Amino acid sequence: MSALRIVLWDQLSHTLSALKDAQAHDVVLFCETHYEASLVPHHPKKLAFLYAAMRHFAQELCQKGLRVRYVTLDATDNTGMLASEITRAVKDLGASHIIMTQPSEYALRQDLLHLFKELTLPFEMREDDRFLCSEGAFKNWAAGRKELRMEYFYRDMRKHYRILMDKGDKPLGGQWNFDKENRRPPECGLSFPKRLSHPRSDTLKEVLRLVGKHFPGHFGDLEPFYYAVTREQALLELEDFIIHCLPFFGDYQDAMVRDEPYLFHSLLSSYLNAGLLAPLEICRRAERVYLEGKAPLNCVEGFIRQILGWREFIRGVYWLKMPAYGDLNYLEANGPLPSFYWGGPTHMACIKEAVTHTRIHAYSHHIQRLMVTGNFALLAGLDVAEVQAWYLSVYSDAFEWVEMPNTLGMALFGDGGLVGSKPYAASGKYIHKMSNFCAQCPYNPDGLLEEDACPFNALYWDFLARHRQKLDNNPRLSFSYKNWDRFDTPKQEAIRHKAKQTLLTMKEETL
Ligand SMILES: Cc1cc2nc3c(=O)[nH]c(=O)nc-3n(C[C@H](O)[C@H](O)[C@H](O)COP(=O)(O)OP(=O)(O)OC[C@H]3O[C@@H](n4cnc5c(N)ncnc54)[C@H](O)[C@@H]3O)c2cc1C
Ligand code: SF4
Repeated sequence: MSALRIVLWDQLSHTLSALKDAQAHDVVLFCETHYEASLVPHHPKKLAFLYAAMRHFAQELCQKGLRVRYVTLDATDNTGMLASEITRAVKDLGASHIIMTQPSEYALRQDLLHLFKELTLPFEMREDDRFLCSEGAFKNWAAGRKELRMEYFYRDMRKHYRILMDKGDKPLGGQWNFDKENRRPPECGLSFPKRLSHPRSDTLKEVLRLVGKHFPGHFGDLEPFYYAVTREQALLELEDFIIHCLPFFGDYQDAMVRDEPYLFHSLLSSYLNAGLLAPLEICRRAERVYLEGKAPLNCVEGFIRQILGWREFIRGVYWLKMPAYGDLNYLEANGPLPSFYWGGPTHMACIKEAVTHTRIHAYSHHIQRLMVTGNFALLAGLDVAEVQAWYLSVYSDAFEWVEMPNTLGMALFGDGGLVGSKPYAASGKYIHKMSNFCAQCPYNPDGLLEEDACPFNALYWDFLARHRQKLDNNPRLSFSYKNWDRFDTPKQEAIRHKAKQTLLTMKEETL
């Protein structure tokens, strides 16, 4: 009786529930399939990272004595789809049953459940216990609450895992959250550590060749490639971050700097999401740094909150609300995505910067995703589905469970306030304050109606005016609406006209 154990490209953990009781006569199946790789045009770096990491992980399982069936992208008998590869493996191997860990994405989970039933084989779809809050525990936490707020969830997680806690139930430092200290704009002379790159294995070289050949039309640069592709290398990334970046992480968490894609951010999301690193080991490692006096509390707390709080909360919301969540579009945004998201021309220095980082690195940090590309999409009313497809394609850490609530919920307010308590809408003033982009921009961040006025400014007021019916009652926007009401009617009309002109210019691809 041999089991077919299926491992997906974001399940590369030796502790994976599907592998826990693996026997020498079982077979572990890995598939590289063209269909799944092309559902959206994934960035070539993302594909290379995931395939190389998957191949290395499979090699590690072989070294541990497990039998592996690995279907490479260019294998002559590869049928190109995960479902048909599973069916083929079941037949070839005469598997008696199937074991896998729940896929992280809703549609794939449903598709595979359907397939397993069709195959009429016994199967087990085990819980993904690499997350710190199970889907069931999140449902219990959410039950009966009027509002789901990350901050309260995070406090409960801190208490549960006893991270940064005193001997009782109080947070270390007397505060749960040091966010107010974490908003320093970039200062002149600030320098950032050089990041690691890793030696190329033959496996990685082969994958780079393959991805270059098979996905030439996908947006993004394959080279230079410097991602970690094994757990050992990912651990080096973690240590590098802990030593060189964590002591400054909080202070400059929201800052944006020209030609600096990383600042003090950890770059760990891809390794976490693929399974090379585990969330608790990262949080514990960061906590130790604080306890040893090597990084200040605001930095360590700010970092741990992202993983223990935001990451788990986002996943909880996804599983709580799917499948209906994916169809939400509270603000009825349906404008086509302009070509500058795919590298087309734009004069807006901030957008150019964020898209360039994205093209080269398959990465841009949170504030660029939220307050530059996300903010523009929100203000301009760009189509929620198109914007999501963009985010899912272009970032190496993008999987629907985490991309969707961040994009649809946090950036686009498409869920009407489930993930965030107000839309993250901001004018050019915010970007001007938190970055040095505007100095290089032909637009004037302080302008409003002039020809060279920053496009974000009129769009920001127009956004508020356009959605007043839906947003007026939000107490966190009352100050903004008071300011809008201070403009006299001709000025309001002029602003709204300017916003219309801006959207026309965007359509003509000359913004
Ligand atoms: C529109 C939009 C789309 C996003 N899409 C993704 C995505 O597809 N995949 C993804 O992992 N993150 C996504 N994020 C969240 C966040 O931007 C990235 O996790 C972060 O930029 C990754 O870089 P880092 O590892 O250097 O993070 P750091 O700034 O160093 O943060 C540390 C870790 O905290 C976690 N984290 C931080 N913020 C979030 C968040 N909002 N949601 C979930 N985890 C978080 C990540 O695991 C990250 O590695 C998105 C955010 C926005 C606004
Ligand atoms: S002026 Fe406006 S468009 Fe230009 S970089 Fe600043 S915020 Fe962006």
